[in-house]
Amino acid sequence: MPLKSVPENYLDSPVESLPQIAARRLSYLHKLGIHTVYDALTYYPRTYENWSRILRIDDLKDKEEASFIAVVRQKPALQRKGRLSIIRAVLSDGSGTIRAVWFNQPYLLNRLIKNESYFFRGKIRRDGRNFDVTNPSVESGETDGALLIRPYYPLTKGLTQGVLRNLIKDALPKALPCLREVLPDFVLREEDLTGIEIAYEQIHRPTSEDELDRARKRLIYEELFLIQGGLRWMKRSRLRDRGAHAVCLDDDRMKTLRSALLRLGFSLTDDQKKVLGEVLSDMKKAVPMNRLVQGDVGSGKTVIALAAMLAAALAGYQSVFMAPTSILADQHYRTVTRFLEGTGIKPYLLLGSTPVAEKNQIRRMLRSGELLVLVGTHAVLSDKIDYKALALTVTDEQHRFGVRQRSLFADGNTVSPHTLVMSATPIPRTLALILYGDLDISVIRKIPSGRIPVETYTALPAETDRVYNIVRRQVEAGRQVYFVCPVIEAAGEEYPVVNPDAASASDLASDSDVDANAEADMAGLISAEDLFAHLSQEIFKDLSVGLLHGGMKAPQKEDVMNRFLAGEIKILVSTTVVEVGVDNPNASVMVIENADRYGLSQLHQLRGRIGRGKYRSVCILISDKTEGLASKRLKTLCRTADGFEIARKDLELRGPGDFFGTRQHGIPELRIANLYRDTDVLERVGRTLDRIWEEDPDLSSEANKNLIYAFSQRFGSEINHPSL
Ligand code: ADP
Ligand code: MG
Repeated sequence: MPLKSVPENYLDSPVESLPQIAARRLSYLHKLGIHTVYDALTYYPRTYENWSRILRIDDLKDKEEASFIAVVRQKPALQRKGRLSIIRAVLSDGSGTIRAVWFNQPYLLNRLIKNESYFFRGKIRRDGRNFDVTNPSVESGETDGALLIRPYYPLTKGLTQGVLRNLIKDALPKALPCLREVLPDFVLREEDLTGIEIAYEQIHRPTSEDELDRARKRLIYEELFLIQGGLRWMKRSRLRDRGAHAVCLDDDRMKTLRSALLRLGFSLTDDQKKVLGEVLSDMKKAVPMNRLVQGDVGSGKTVIALAAMLAAALAGYQSVFMAPTSILADQHYRTVTRFLEGTGIKPYLLLGSTPVAEKNQIRRMLRSGELLVLVGTHAVLSDKIDYKALALTVTDEQHRFGVRQRSLFADGNTVSPHTLVMSATPIPRTLALILYGDLDISVIRKIPSGRIPVETYTALPAETDRVYNIVRRQVEAGRQVYFVCPVIEAAGEEYPVVNPDAASASDLASDSDVDANAEADMAGLISAEDLFAHLSQEIFKDLSVGLLHGGMKAPQKEDVMNRFLAGEIKILVSTTVVEVGVDNPNASVMVIENADRYGLSQLHQLRGRIGRGKYRSVCILISDKTEGLASKRLKTLCRTADGFEIARKDLELRGPGDFFGTRQHGIPELRIANLYRDTDVLERVGRTLDRIWEEDPDLSSEANKNLIYAFSQRFGSEINHPSL
């Protein structure tokens, strides 16, 4: 018997088995998706800072990012200025003095103690003997001094860098020996990749930039290998012995479908006709359709769903239409109701908040088959629901749901519904094909004619007075306005959370707010609560201002939304909860705070909320970035209205470590690979998988059985799903 102090499944043991994980912290870790030791191991740093070179203040150079050790000369001062909190401190070492300023990080006030010395790091401004630094990161001298290349992990409220660093440091010694190599030998050799243990150690505690690069190279390969391999495995499993209801319409029913489309009051664009044709011909087959419809905001994807559902209903089958939020589900329900008028088919709406009696009634009718068309949030996915003959599921804005939910319907049945997924965040076709080996893709390219494109401009924070004037004039002209902020509340004592709309909103299935969420990134962020207070109590106190964010309870949200739709609320301050589908044609201005913090495609989605009516509409992107990548990205947005072009640019311009389009498309979130930067790796991985599959299509050899396990680890339960 080999001597082993660690159980084989140590990696699967819960994270609370590590020392010093208090119950209070546990929930925060869970929020970050860290449940097991393995999760912690694959929770990679967001960035690193090389602190191995510490400079004297005297030697700091203008415009350079640098580290120095200095003493806080006086107790720092906190100042509030409108929407901002400002902390100033004077720092010095033997060689000189530097002025530091932090925006919106009031918690630093108690952390910076007079006469104590700290590590600082930030971009220096130097003018002769005058030194300044804005929002430098701060570390106490003692924290793990051995770590010269310091990892920075994405955080959430209640967790600090120190906690995560210690957690991972504690986990590594026992976890590393438990890792089993997932990449075949020939791959390691041919690709010249580091072994799994070294890679996982060096990604968390690199000893040099070189080691870090090698670790990263290996983990990127591994990630793309597991994801692409997992998708292939799922597709193969799904296609095996699965059937679907074939939706065939006779001439009479076809006529009913056509006349419903005619009643819409507009004729379909050529793209819509083509896509609808593809969908209907897929649905005629007795094998499940699995189709993604990509089309820019406002391209008219909903009609495709309406027609497909009506077709299913006319053939006597059931369909469900899922939206990521109750607001959106409600809106769709109204659209569906209008569309089905005169067909004799009555749609139903099912939300989390639907009264129990009504829910039961709906369930009963689904079981008996008398209910043919259902609209709802993911409440419709509840396992308490039995469908008599479900032929079609439509998922709107798929990125809000997970891949896992996509297959829930298949549970235990040999007949799968046809699935139609609609998304406005396009990814380039080549990437889509590689990643979604398992989906067919239809594209609506052209927007229906007659739309006035949204004019988009950038503005500096210093120009807000002008922005407020524009807003006031528009409201006086009868229009309504959105303000969008990246966070709900300002940084408090503890580290703030950036994407609380994800965590707290019961009807949002996955997160959506800005993905950068480390404390350093919080500097200078305008919060919805602060801005709401500022606008409602000062700037627009004579106007009706509303607040909407994912931290609010569902009825509260609905109330605000309804008052905004009714025109009662003139100015709506919100987070990115308005990103998806909200339709108020009277809104003509959108002001986006900290615009450089969002993905380009996300900004494009956001501005899709305006310009939906007959009014000239303006989107104002507020950012203090006047040069560099951030400003270039925003300019792209001002220049182009084409979502596909924007997505391409987004991929091209996003920095290393960033990713695009995966979470939005229900693929497990990429932790380290970047789909634009790493396309060549993606292709090499594809060829490697071809080779493996050619030799062993069922992955049944001893070596390959391991692979299925590794895929399932990366995808969560999806691959273990009994139906696969
Ligand atoms: P999205 O693709 O963003 O979901 P929608 O389906 O909500 O877009 O359509 C946006 C608006 O355009 C809706 O008001 C819809 O009625 C309208 N629309 C859809 N197709 C056409 C068309 N062919 N011609 C004119 N208007 C259309
Ligand atoms: Mg839509």
